[in-house]
Amino acid sequence: MNRFEEQFSCKGHAAGFDGRFTLSGSKSHYAPDRTFDTRHIKLVLELDFPRKMLTGVCTTTLAALADDATSMNFDAVNFEQVRVSSSRGAVQQSYDGRKLNVSWKTPVPRGTTVDVTIRYRVVKPKLGLHFVGPDRADPRKPRQAWTQGEDEYNRHWFPCHDAPQERTTTETVITVPEPFTAVSNGALLQTSKDRRRKTRTYHWKQNVPHSPYLVSLAVGEFTEIKDRWGKVPVLYFCQPGREADTHRAFGKTPQMIDFFSKRLGVPYAYAKYSQVAAVDFIYGGMENTSSTTQTALTLHDERAHLDFSSDPLVAHELAHQWFGDLVTCKDWSHAWLNESFATYFEALFKEYDLGHDEFMYELRDNAEAYFSEDKERYRRPIVTKFYKNTNDLFDRHLYEKGSLVLHMLRNLLGDKAWWRSMNTYLRRHRTQGVETINLLNAIQDATGKNMRPFFDQWVFKGGHPEYKVRYWWDARAKKASVRVLQTHGTNEETGLFSMPVTFAFRIGQAVKRFTETVNKKDQLFTYTLSGEPNLVLFDPDHVILKRVDFTKTEAMWITQLMQDSHVLGRIQAAGALGRLASPKAVRALALALMQEKFWGVQVEVAGALAKVESAAAMEALLQGLKQVSHPKVRRAIYDALGNYAHPRVATEIQSLFSREESYFAEAAAIRALGRQRDPGLFSLLKGVLKRDSWNDILRCAAIEAIGALKLPESIEILKTYSRSGYSSSARMTAIRNLGAFGQGRDDIQQHLIRLLADPYLMVKIAVIRTLGSFADERATPALMKYTTGDLDGRLKRTAEEAVRKIRKGMDQEFPTAKKTAGRP
Ligand SMILES: [Zn+2]
Repeated sequence: MNRFEEQFSCKGHAAGFDGRFTLSGSKSHYAPDRTFDTRHIKLVLELDFPRKMLTGVCTTTLAALADDATSMNFDAVNFEQVRVSSSRGAVQQSYDGRKLNVSWKTPVPRGTTVDVTIRYRVVKPKLGLHFVGPDRADPRKPRQAWTQGEDEYNRHWFPCHDAPQERTTTETVITVPEPFTAVSNGALLQTSKDRRRKTRTYHWKQNVPHSPYLVSLAVGEFTEIKDRWGKVPVLYFCQPGREADTHRAFGKTPQMIDFFSKRLGVPYAYAKYSQVAAVDFIYGGMENTSSTTQTALTLHDERAHLDFSSDPLVAHELAHQWFGDLVTCKDWSHAWLNESFATYFEALFKEYDLGHDEFMYELRDNAEAYFSEDKERYRRPIVTKFYKNTNDLFDRHLYEKGSLVLHMLRNLLGDKAWWRSMNTYLRRHRTQGVETINLLNAIQDATGKNMRPFFDQWVFKGGHPEYKVRYWWDARAKKASVRVLQTHGTNEETGLFSMPVTFAFRIGQAVKRFTETVNKKDQLFTYTLSGEPNLVLFDPDHVILKRVDFTKTEAMWITQLMQDSHVLGRIQAAGALGRLASPKAVRALALALMQEKFWGVQVEVAGALAKVESAAAMEALLQGLKQVSHPKVRRAIYDALGNYAHPRVATEIQSLFSREESYFAEAAAIRALGRQRDPGLFSLLKGVLKRDSWNDILRCAAIEAIGALKLPESIEILKTYSRSGYSSSARMTAIRNLGAFGQGRDDIQQHLIRLLADPYLMVKIAVIRTLGSFADERATPALMKYTTGDLDGRLKRTAEEAVRKIRKGMDQEFPTAKKTAGRP
């Protein structure tokens, strides 16, 4: 599963929270007991679009596990007209709207199989199965239906033991109206047409057992694009007219299948691989076995392709076909065995495809995402069984931090041993449920290494090391000394870390390296060198997930910025020089902005110049606009210039923005204009609101810019674009920007509370976050409604965090009146 907000809408908010991962009502979660093992599920389904209804016949083949198996509990939420029969004669059924209990008078002998057939209907399901079609925002929106099973939503459209430990073969026979296509897991066995009823029937079969949450259905009027990997069909389904965009987005899939199959030594396991571009999909993508669903937002035109790629999303969902689908976490507390792997393998494909610099820069993004969650929201162990809603686990710890832990693991083991470990783990556990111990044991058997101490620090406990590093040179004795302190606070959750750390000293052009175990609070390392080093590096390969405070001279940082062979070393130097902000430092940054070879470093250099806030830094950025052509760097320069409200900046950007080749650079220029805070720019920005663009990116930028102008007219525009009738991304941007005006404004608060009823999940989440940013308890009753019940897990978590944030804000603002309902 790939998170939605970050990739496909304008940036999300920094959440701000009170430091606890667990919500009230959290408890320990364990995989449930089973009386029966599910061997096969056959679903015969018919979809009725106008009534948003599914009629189903689900036949489950069960094998008794327990000695006295007399009953089976199916998860089945809000089903209607439920009728049960069984191959073992009469059954009793009881159904409370959530659990369907089927029982026999006499026990089914252990190992014996029995078929249970459940006929049922689902009308307007709230979760699991989603119908989309034309609406006010888009009267031409195609009709589609798609499912989203992870984490526990498939129980809303078919009865099953809905837990990842269950593994079964599945079969779907789906009847849909002409001219729709139905895509599901496994091989397509047959299609047929009923001319009289004007329907089509698709029969799919998944022969390799998988977990019920991975069963999928995607229905729409699709064009099918056929590709292949060897003999395996690779299929893309999209709405007619988007063929070129689809090929642009998914075209590297066979290359990725090849890369993963060969590197892992475990070939792609399924009969086909399909990707459906689903409209209004609520995630970036979902790795349903052999049948991934992707958001249609990832399809893009040629202009977007200049500096946007769907490869990370495509690689992520594809990697799950091994990590998640073929080998599945036994219960959700070990979900990192799915998500951290998909996140890391997404980066590994980038390393293979685009090189080491791009790979390391992506890992750095991952690290920053994790650091911000750790700092602003909470800290937790990657593996924890103590939580409230399963979806709480799908956070930056599970995705990003886990990917960095795997990167450390790969470096500790060495490449050869790492890939052998992956191969052992996958081959040993294919089609099985796994826990973290299975990974540890596979590594130990493949390499002889017991990585338990490493896992204890990084997986079963929370946090990361913060190092303070001090270096000095004794010229007479020719001795370099490095003192390393672990400065992070230690407690039960985070201890002192024990890690091998490499120190590098460059004397002339020769580099000397030493590797030490850093495991104490305070350690001193001394080395005799042939001469004084011009570069001193702590962890020169940037392997360890860490924060470092390393004091170096200005000259040394400048040398590092210009000459460190590692992109992250140069980036580190850029940050340090930005903080120094001396004339020499700014000159070095200005030079690096023009001459640096890797765009990611240029981006960080621009960011460093943004923070300096001096005339020289502004000049350097303006000069950069004249000389630098990489669209991602131009985007960063505009972002940086947003920090400089100056007539020259405004004039320069106005003359350039509409000529930008890249949507993203143009959008960044528009946002930077907003940050000029010049009311004279209002009508220009209003003009941009009329412009259509890929995923509404320019309109979003204009909305944000108008918000940043902070004019009274801004509020009306933000309110307008937050209402239904505009794209979700435009609405979310408007809602978020209302946050800057809302504190103490009743009209905005009321407007947002009304928007809570909106049917769009992502819009609702944006509203809840914004309401959470005001310390106004009157929103609490409305928000509380979204903290429980049959709702999307992200919605519940956001609502609960918002309520907690409001209460915390109230406590700070009105320390004595914290329990009163209204404002004093
Ligand atoms: Zn995922």
